[in-house]
This record gives sequence, structure tokens and C-alpha cells, in this order.
Amino acid sequence: MAECIFCKIINKELPSHVVFEDDQVIAFLDIHPVNPGHVLVVPKVHSDNFLEMSNEDLNELMKKVKQIAPAVQKSVKAEACNIMINSGRAAGQLVYHTHIHIIPRFPADGHKHWHREGDELDNLPQIADKAREALNS
Ligand code: 5GP
Ligand code: ZN
Repeated sequence: MAECIFCKIINKELPSHVVFEDDQVIAFLDIHPVNPGHVLVVPKVHSDNFLEMSNEDLNELMKKVKQIAPAVQKSVKAEACNIMINSGRAAGQLVYHTHIHIIPRFPADGHKHWHREGDELDNLPQIADKAREALNS
């Protein structure tokens, strides 16, 4: 993918602050960190989104995330971390090369849980029905 920013980072055509690299994965610091130690874990084979990846490749990727997350957390003395994927434009995906965010978290760092006040809970059974239906179709 000639124009993909993360492919360019993988190919060392663009600089990055690498924290881990092997044959399958590279992990580097996010250029606009949410908190210190914000890392992106990126598979070296291009896919636009994790939904496109094989189960085997995803397995390998998640194993690396599990290895990297506690080390990054320790390096910035964080108490916890968010491990997340923005999947699709409306969810905030900006770079269409699969990546997993590891965001170290600190007590009272200002980032709030996403629970909204006054959410309508009445339609939870209907949504669950439809989701099960979609999974079974
Ligand atoms: P997304 O919103 O797609 O889940 O996350 C993309 C992330 O990539 C953003 O947090 C953004 O700051 C980061 N990013 C975008 N371009 C670059 C870059 O050239 N280098 C690095 N290190 N991070 C980048
Ligand atoms: Zn790419």
C-alpha cells in the first residue's frame, strides 16, 4: 500500500519511536498521544481493518498486545490501560491500516468513561434480539 502511513513506518520510509518489533508486528508511540506511553501495535501485513484479518493473524497480534501492554504501563508508571480499536470512520478510525491502541491510564487523568447520562434502556431486549439474529444468520 504505497500511500499508507503505517506501511511507510513499517518500511522505515517514515520515522517513528519504536518500542517493539519482530517479523509480524511493529509497535511505536502515537504521534498525538492521549497520555504518555500511548502506543500503536500494528501488524506488518496491510489490512484496512481488523475485521479483514484472519483469526490466526489476530491471535498473534493479540498475543503481542498482551506482551507489550504491561511493559508500556510499567515504563510510564501507569495504573491501568485502555486497549482499543477504532473500527470505521464514525468510530474515529483515521488510519486505515489495522492497529490497536494501548493507552496508559492514571488516576484522575481527566479521561472519562463513555457512559452517557439519561440513556434510554428500554430497548435493550430488542437490540439484543437483533444482534443474536444477525450473529445466527
Ligand atoms: P485511529 O483514529 O485510526 O484509531 O488512530 C490513528 C492514530 O495514529 C492516531 O492516534 C494518530 O495520532 C496516529 N498517527 C497518525 N499518523 C501518525 C504518524 O505518522 N506517526 C505516528 N506515530 N502516529 C500517527
Ligand atoms: Zn498499510
